Amino acid sequence: MTTVDHNPVVGTPPLIDGDTQSSEAGFSTRTKDFSGELLDRDLERSFLCSTLPSRIRHLRFVGVTAAVFILLGIVIDALVVGNDPKLIGGIIVVRAAVAASIIAALMAAGSAGGPKSSLDRLIVIPILMVSIMTCGIVWAIKGELLLHALTALVLIVIYYLFLPLRLIWAMGVSLIFTVGFIASASIFLDISPDEFFQVILYLTLANILGALVSRERNVTLRREFVIVESERRITDDLRHEVAARTAAEKAQAESETRFRSLVELSPDAILVHRGGTVLYLNPVGSRLMGAENPKQLIGHSFFEFILPRYRQPIIERLARLEYGAEALPPIELTVRTVDGRERPCEVVSGPILYEGEPAVQSVVRDIAERKQMQEELTRLATTDPLTGICNRRRFFERLELEWSRARRHSRPMSILMFDLDHFKRVNDTHGHAVGDSVLKDLCKEADDLLRSEDVLARLGGEEFAVILPEIDRETAEAVAERLRKRLASVEIAAPEGVVRCTVSIGVIQCRLAHESLDVALKRVDDALYRAKKSGRNLVCSG
Ligand code: GH3
Ligand code: MG
Ligand code: MG
Repeated sequence: MTTVDHNPVVGTPPLIDGDTQSSEAGFSTRTKDFSGELLDRDLERSFLCSTLPSRIRHLRFVGVTAAVFILLGIVIDALVVGNDPKLIGGIIVVRAAVAASIIAALMAAGSAGGPKSSLDRLIVIPILMVSIMTCGIVWAIKGELLLHALTALVLIVIYYLFLPLRLIWAMGVSLIFTVGFIASASIFLDISPDEFFQVILYLTLANILGALVSRERNVTLRREFVIVESERRITDDLRHEVAARTAAEKAQAESETRFRSLVELSPDAILVHRGGTVLYLNPVGSRLMGAENPKQLIGHSFFEFILPRYRQPIIERLARLEYGAEALPPIELTVRTVDGRERPCEVVSGPILYEGEPAVQSVVRDIAERKQMQEELTRLATTDPLTGICNRRRFFERLELEWSRARRHSRPMSILMFDLDHFKRVNDTHGHAVGDSVLKDLCKEADDLLRSEDVLARLGGEEFAVILPEIDRETAEAVAERLRKRLASVEIAAPEGVVRCTVSIGVIQCRLAHESLDVALKRVDDALYRAKKSGRNLVCSG
């Protein structure tokens, strides 16, 4: 079956052949050529459901009107037929049956309330009864063909135009009735072939016209329905869309408020920038930068507040930070505050959308305290607590460093190792506290004597070592000799009298290319041992 297009949606382009969906309403608005009913079964069903109350009202009106006519008909029949009681009785029975069928139709209409009930099916049986009864009247009262034919014509018009039937049902019952009527007229009435032919012609024409008008009415009613339905669906869609958009906007506003309060309450400085220009700064950020409020810095380039040596690395980092990329790993840098102070900071940056445009969000943490703490921890881990010089651990770290540096640059390097002579006696005589003071004073003296690049370390107890970078054996021996003399001259006041302490020193020049560090240490230790063995307060070279 071909289809015609009845696109009812105002402002939408007409549907082309083969296009089955209304572009805006989202359903097919086509109607069948034959009946004018909608091709879309769901849409047709919703049309029938939406028109059900009016169809039922319509049917009741037809029913009541028919009942009145039947009552009048009985009176007219009695006048026409005269006083033949048998015939009057027959007519009354026939009319009563017609009235019963109409009442059945009315009751059927009353119960057809549900959306799926088919009014057509419910009312066809009483209608067929009416048709059969009409043919019965032809048989019962015989009479004029014209009168019966007029009744048949009226019934056909009622089937097509006044009963709320779908076209296929209306055609079905009307054709059955037409055939039945023509058959009963030809059997029971005394009619000529001409009259017979005329009846067939008029009733056939009535059927064709009825079907055409009914089809046109179907198309018109459905067109109106589809317009309303399209608008309703579009309005519904719009309402849903508006509701969804409002909900999304609300959620976004909530999330922005949450984000803002999170950012404002953050203990870290938070900065949003684009191309280096500060777009947003939280209150902690302005405090960190020594500004009175964030506005003082917004619009400035943050490169103004970064020490020059960090600028290039940061430009390179930011170039990697395209929108959608992952956040960059943290870096440490030093910022210069508005009032000129320098502050070490740790910065993490990630891409964000700010006011709809790609931007960079950086979380800046003031790490001055952390740095101080780290430095203090490092100092504690590498310093001898009593004397303040390097401890054993630090000595070995520095030794490895200086060793490889000296090897790399083919420069000499020497090591001294010294031990206090008879220190046990100092402790025994003056007490441990005085012993400690002696250790501290001698270290201070040694430190004064040595160069800043020399590394003086306490290896343990009252044993010390000195790394002498870029010093050869002769110079090292001279340094050791000076050190020995200087330390021997130190006098420490103690309650029991002045304390003097000498040292024995072993000295070597490292054979950087020929020995390992351990061997070198063994050699200097041996030299110290020899100094002790040789009478103490001596320098021995290994
Ligand atoms: P020598 O080295 O000349 O052979 O004799 P010595 O008496 O110095 O012998 P040794 O090196 O074996 O003794 C080290 C002494 O140093 C033993 C210990 O009581 C003392 N000593 C080690 N560490 C400390 C310290 O931190 N404070 C004090 N007051 N004494 C210490
Ligand atoms: Mg000693
Ligand atoms: Mg010792």
